[in-house]
Amino acid sequence: MIEIIEKKRLGKELTKEEIEYVVREYTKGSIPDYQMSALLMAICINGMTEEETINLTDSFINSGEVIDTKNIQGTIVDKHSTGGVGDKTTLVIAPVLATLGYKVLKMSGRGLGFTGGTIDKLESIKGYQVEEPFTKVENQINEIGLAIISQTQNLVPADKKIYALRDVTATVSSIPLIASSIMSKKIASGASTIVIDVKVGEGALLKNITDARKLSNLMIKIGKKYNRKIICVLTNMDSPLGKAIGNSNEVLEAIDALNGKGPKDLMDLVKELASEIMIANENITKEEALKKIEEKINSKEAYNKFLELVKFQGGDINTLALSKRVFSIKTDKEGYIKSINALKIGELVKKMGGGRLEKSDPINHEVGITLTVGIGDKVKPNDELMRIYLGDKDLSFKELSGIFTISNVKEEPKLIYEIIK
Ligand code: URA
Repeated sequence: MIEIIEKKRLGKELTKEEIEYVVREYTKGSIPDYQMSALLMAICINGMTEEETINLTDSFINSGEVIDTKNIQGTIVDKHSTGGVGDKTTLVIAPVLATLGYKVLKMSGRGLGFTGGTIDKLESIKGYQVEEPFTKVENQINEIGLAIISQTQNLVPADKKIYALRDVTATVSSIPLIASSIMSKKIASGASTIVIDVKVGEGALLKNITDARKLSNLMIKIGKKYNRKIICVLTNMDSPLGKAIGNSNEVLEAIDALNGKGPKDLMDLVKELASEIMIANENITKEEALKKIEEKINSKEAYNKFLELVKFQGGDINTLALSKRVFSIKTDKEGYIKSINALKIGELVKKMGGGRLEKSDPINHEVGITLTVGIGDKVKPNDELMRIYLGDKDLSFKELSGIFTISNVKEEPKLIYEIIK
């Protein structure tokens, strides 16, 4: 291991055997965290070649089970986001795709850092089971077209262990490490077409478009190697997506979106991602795909599919609740909303109990923030900016400052930067 660390420290290329050795032995527990941390830091600084990244992805996949999808009939699709604030897209797109005839096998995660997680959000619905035996999942997908479950314990265990170490050693933001972490889990979970929402900006892992392009191209190359269609959609994450941030709060906004009444950015993103899946699998134009998606939403088919999903996984939709301790935050300025800091909002919701400070912390599903303005909106003194649904943890005025920037000119940033496929 010392030789391998030294080799990477000198910027040399590791062989397939060396990478396999490290992943296998670290997962087993025979390489200590301090040696693995040193190697990860050397990778962060010196990078990895494409071949090393593919070998790393391969070793990750081989560390655990690969979902066998032979009993699921139809085209299996998946959607992934590199993580953001207010991102409830999965809850909307999964039922939409199911109504369009796709089979959606979605394994989601919990909140990480300041970003939320679909599984935590779904647990706002009392009774919703995030862990189900796979035979039940298969039957459910064949019957209703979708399942949203927690990643199984044995899916890429090497990534689980290495990601936890990266989180505490400042080694998360390395493009080859992110690419192999995401792609190993996507490939092991079985879908043939995967649309990846690569978030860019203040509230995202990747802060600039150049890095987002590099990551996308690398993930597409890895996908090709495994015969999967990968579409990367690069999207803006300077401001939260939609208006609701929190757990119950986001599910309620997803329900609005499924009824055609969601905020424009969320609706646009759902349509963009879903249409790309359709274009990858059907002989269809973008316009035709968008029209079909809108029909599924307007007819309430997609909403009814969501209700079916919740029912199949044991949840009671009527239990969704928001905290009754509500505070309104107003402005004393005049102008146009220029930015809403996603990172700060994510951190606030986490601090209020909507996310975890420690891995084992329970979360409060009823806390959250609802933005009552969006980018480009005109405001004057005493107008409301946001509503805070507090739990038993208080916030100081200082923590609430610096979230909104108000300027004299109206600006409307782009939501979708580009599509790489
Ligand atoms: N999401 C992942 O699953 N892995 C990473 O490394 C980064 C984001």
